[in-house]
Formats: sequence, structure tokens, C-alpha cells
Amino acid sequence: MTTRQTRKVFGLIGRNVDYSWSPLIHNTAFEALGMPCVYTVFNIASPELVGDALRGARALGIQGFNVTIPYKKAVVPFLDELSPEAEAIGAVNTIVNENGRLTGHNTDIAGFAAPLMPWADRIRGRRACIFGNGGAALAAVEAFRTFFRPSSVLLFVRDLHKAEEMLDGYEHRELVVPGRTGDLDLPLGGQQLQECSVIVNATPIGTSGRTDTLRSIVPAGRELFHPGQVVYDMVYNPLETPLLFDARAAGADTVSGIEMLIAQAARSFFIWTGKEMPVETVRNVLMREIGQPAPSVRG
Ligand code: NAP
Repeated sequence: MTTRQTRKVFGLIGRNVDYSWSPLIHNTAFEALGMPCVYTVFNIASPELVGDALRGARALGIQGFNVTIPYKKAVVPFLDELSPEAEAIGAVNTIVNENGRLTGHNTDIAGFAAPLMPWADRIRGRRACIFGNGGAALAAVEAFRTFFRPSSVLLFVRDLHKAEEMLDGYEHRELVVPGRTGDLDLPLGGQQLQECSVIVNATPIGTSGRTDTLRSIVPAGRELFHPGQVVYDMVYNPLETPLLFDARAAGADTVSGIEMLIAQAARSFFIWTGKEMPVETVRNVLMREIGQPAPSVRG
């Protein structure tokens, strides 16, 4: 590819996303496949500007976007169509522009599910547990419902009102049982956690550079985790968070957030290009980069 060749443009919509890994992921894939495309970041300062940004994208022919915090819901009113997954949770992380028609997808759901597939039989019909009440937590709830059919999903949050806000309008509300992280110190809370087949962290706790760890809300973590459980941390920097360290030490199976990061990106890439992302090439580049000292805030 010569530097004079024009390129199709893709990008990430978010706020303060300069340190996102997404450009590295997608540009590595474009380069590996010899595609004349480039992926960049678009920082949008405030929600009022989201509509202008998407109108501009239509006019300029920007081919596709990822969307991250805090705009996954804010983009919805400006799109022409939603995929069933995006519709189910009212949030979009991928937009494709086909001749000015913008369709919103959500690849966090299938991206979350992909690395859990080896344990699908273990999860079906038993309880699952998620920490958090943000967009990532709702994507995980919907992934459990669609792909794994647990008996229920315990949602541990610090504020029950926020859990209700998250679930407001969600059609499958009955699957979710909210609980307070504060109650995890109590014998019943600990027992509930122990009985779960899979435990998911959908909060930023444990991210490199933060001082709080999941041990601050699950102090007895190492005693509660056990072989036969899967512990999944959506945080991917560091690759092994304190939560995953404790879980592994207790004999549980572990899943790093990097698996979801790659899986959701691969699905976005396919939606935009119709091509499979060269996942192993991307993984090697990403592991090398995340292994390096890096700015602590990445989206
Ligand atoms: P979000 O909407 O900002 O939600 C963050 C959640 O974390 C909220 O429920 C928040 O609770 C909770 N939280 C934050 N600090 C906490 C603390 N000290 N104690 C207890 N709860 C705390 O973010 P999100 O989009 O859902 O993403 C959550 C995490 O998942 C982020 O770290 C994100 O990077 C990661 N993620 C990873 C992937 C991947 O591909 N691996 C994909 C999506 C997201 P309050 O509402 O009470 O503040």
C-alpha cells in the first residue's frame, strides 16, 4: 500500500479515548490483510454533540465506528436502524455506515460470551453472578440469557437504585436478582457467591493504576472461589488482575478481559468489512503492548 492511496476511515467515538487499544487492534488487522483502511479516535466533548458528529459522519462517508463510554446509549436516537442485540439492551458499540444509512450493533454481548463457551454446560441451569450496574454488566446479563441460560443472574452493586435504573426497560428483568456488595460480608452473601458457577467483574476495579481491588468488596474472595467455578474479569490491564490471581490460587478457571476485548473487536471488524480479523496476529501485538508499562487509563 502506498502513502498516496486513499483509505476508508473507521474510528472510536468516546470521551478521553486517546489511550484506547482499539486503533492498535483494528490498524493491525487492516495492515495484516493489506486493506486500505485506517482507524482513529474521535473524542466528543459532550452528549449534545453526538448528533452533529453522526450527521458529519454521514456527510463525510466515515465507514464505521466503535462507541464507548459515555455514548453507547446516546448514539441510539441518531441511528436509522438497530440490530436485535443493540435493541435488547438499548446500547450500541458498533455503527456501520452504508451509503449514509447508519445501523447500530452491539458486539459486547457476543464478545463477552465467546471466551465462556468452553464452560457453557457448567453455566446452564445454575446461578451466575456479575459485579456492576453499567453498560458492560447489562451486556453480560444479555449474553448469559442468550447463550448460557443460567437459572438466575445475581447482580452485586453498591447502590440498588442504580441496578433498577440499569434494568429499567430490559425485557428479561426477571432473570436478574440484584444484591448489595455490602451484604457479601454476611454468611448468606458469601454462600450465594460460592454457589455461582461463574463470577464476572463488570466494574473497573482492579485496573492498573487504581488503588481499589475487588478484595475491598469481596474480602474473603480466595476462600469463596473454588475449583469448578469460572471467574471472568472484564478488566484487561493488567492481564491478571488481583481478582483473577485470587481465583486462580483457589483453583477456579479464569478468563481475562483481553479475550472479550479481542472477540468484540473481531465481530465489529466483520460487520464493517465482511472479513475475519486475523485474531492471532492482533493478540500477539496486543499482549506485547499490554505487557509494556503503559498509561493506566485505556478504554
Ligand atoms: P460504567 O458504565 O462506567 O460502569 C462501571 C460500574 O462499575 C458501575 O456499576 C459502578 O458502580 C461500578 N464501580 C466503579 N467503581 C466501583 C467501586 N469502587 N466499587 C464498586 N463498584 C464500582 O462502565 P462499563 O462500560 O459498564 O464498563 C465496566 C468495566 O468493564 C470497565 O472497566 C470497562 O473498561 C470494562 N469493559 C471491558 C470490555 C472488554 O472488552 N474487556 C468491554 C466493556 C467494558 P456505580 O454506578 O455505583 O458507580
